Amino acid sequence: MTPRKQIAKTIEDYNHFLLTAHVNPDGDAIGSMIGLGHLLTRMGKEFTFYNPSGLPERFAWLNTQEKIHSKLPQKEFEWIVVLDCGDGNRLGEDLEAKLLPEKIINIDHHYGNPEFGNQNWIEPERSSVGEMIALLAKDLGMELNSDLGESLYLAMVTDTGSFTYSNTGQETFYLAAEILRAGLDLDNFNSHLFQQWSLNKVHLHGLAMQNTALYSQGRIGMIKISTELMERTHTSSEDCEGVVNYTRCIKGVKVAVSLREEAKENIKMSLRSWGEVDVNAIAHSLGGGGHRNAAGATFHLPLQEAESLVLQTIDKQLNARD
Ligand code: 5GP
Ligand code: MN
Repeated sequence: MTPRKQIAKTIEDYNHFLLTAHVNPDGDAIGSMIGLGHLLTRMGKEFTFYNPSGLPERFAWLNTQEKIHSKLPQKEFEWIVVLDCGDGNRLGEDLEAKLLPEKIINIDHHYGNPEFGNQNWIEPERSSVGEMIALLAKDLGMELNSDLGESLYLAMVTDTGSFTYSNTGQETFYLAAEILRAGLDLDNFNSHLFQQWSLNKVHLHGLAMQNTALYSQGRIGMIKISTELMERTHTSSEDCEGVVNYTRCIKGVKVAVSLREEAKENIKMSLRSWGEVDVNAIAHSLGGGGHRNAAGATFHLPLQEAESLVLQTIDKQLNARD
């Protein structure tokens, strides 16, 4: 039996599920988790949502049907479904400490997922975990309509950069078309997803863009955001989402980097590339991971030191390629 079929069967046979995804959840983590919740509701199952970061403000418009607990619920669950998480240490300390592999269903699309569950359905070629949940819903005979369709569309559209990244497959478009056919109001959806910015956030992005710089003969584009800049613009790290894309669109840039200082000596790195340049390998060598064209890592270093380390590592990788 394929992992996909086995997971469909487990869902049919059991009743109590904890659904979770990686910390600082993005659209795929949130969309796939809420989508799976809608799927379970249609089957009359019981479930609880958990994410240590809670629901990010920019997704507050979604119908989540249940609260997303930011404290680990002290209940017993038959299964813990871990979504969009290629690395057990991205689940938050509380769950990590309690994880029993025999209870875990691991549904993911990251290369190198170590298969930390009892049931592991890992497909790195899939655009998003939302796409995988859409397939699961279809296997279970469901129409991709209403809130189920909306949350899975959110997962697909955000993880593919609005269907532009190389992870966008034929089936991604088929499933998106099915969701539209089933009634998703695209205009309404897009205004929710793309009209969430505050004026402060616009100012933050403007100032960060002004300080963008190129390195390694124009092959690396870097944008940095310090805590000082966030304080000055009255913004938070959630407002930094997506800044890495500004350097990705500069002609000649092969690796786009953003470094954001979440706190002193706590630096979040994002990497982006086009085509063959494998930023997953670069992130991996720096203790992180991700996908070929989108990856990340966290450093416990001062911003300046993190910057030197990252530039040196990428420059070396690019020289090895060229
Ligand atoms: P983002 O830059 O949007 O935060 O993340 C891009 C991709 O890299 C995502 O698929 C995410 O799962 C992965 N990623 C980001 N940060 C980390 C990290 O610290 N560790 C690992 N293993 N993967 C990460
Ligand atoms: Mn994802």
